[in-house]
Amino acid sequence: MSGPSGVGKGTVTKEVMKDKSLNLFYSVSMTTRPQRPGEENGREYYFVSKEEFQRNIDNNNLLEWAEFVGNRYGTPKDKVEEMRDKGFNVYLEIEVNGTTQVLKQYSGNDIVSIFLIPPSLEELEKRIRGRSTESEEVIKERLEKARRELGLKFNYEYIVLNDEIERAAEEIKSIIRSKMNSTITK
Ligand code: 5GP
Repeated sequence: MSGPSGVGKGTVTKEVMKDKSLNLFYSVSMTTRPQRPGEENGREYYFVSKEEFQRNIDNNNLLEWAEFVGNRYGTPKDKVEEMRDKGFNVYLEIEVNGTTQVLKQYSGNDIVSIFLIPPSLEELEKRIRGRSTESEEVIKERLEKARRELGLKFNYEYIVLNDEIERAAEEIKSIIRSKMNSTITK
């Protein structure tokens, strides 16, 4: 699951995760970004130092990683493999460059890529500004990045419009369900 910063990936994801029939496991990423109020270490992210992140890169512990507005974000590889082996559908909520790396490693029925888009750029700006605890400079950077990210939507198998949280979540759930069914009947 990917999409520009501020599109509402986190909110839609929480809704999707509620559906236990999808057998999903949410992959908690590692980041060097400072913890925001309300976030918990190990729930939203594993908050680590730059040095620790670099060690994880050096030791090949990350399935993918990317730099995003001055911070690094990555997916712990072992956990993904462990949960896949246990039969879970592992759910990654990551930015576009990371997705490109993941798409190189899995293909066909092993993966489904979904790109969430906002109703408009104006709406996206409102959301980024609305939730932000960050400086104007970082907000501007996130907005510029979002514009560029939107251009990459055609790299994805599915594009979902986040016009309304519940509706978008329903659409994503049915995409996952149909992928699960096509895997079973393969
Ligand atoms: P935020 O700082 O708003 O939590 O996240 C910034 C961006 O990083 C979002 O687009 C989010 O989806 C992305 N992100 C979160 N975790 C990962 C990860 O493990 N890998 C990559 N490539 N991007 C991530």
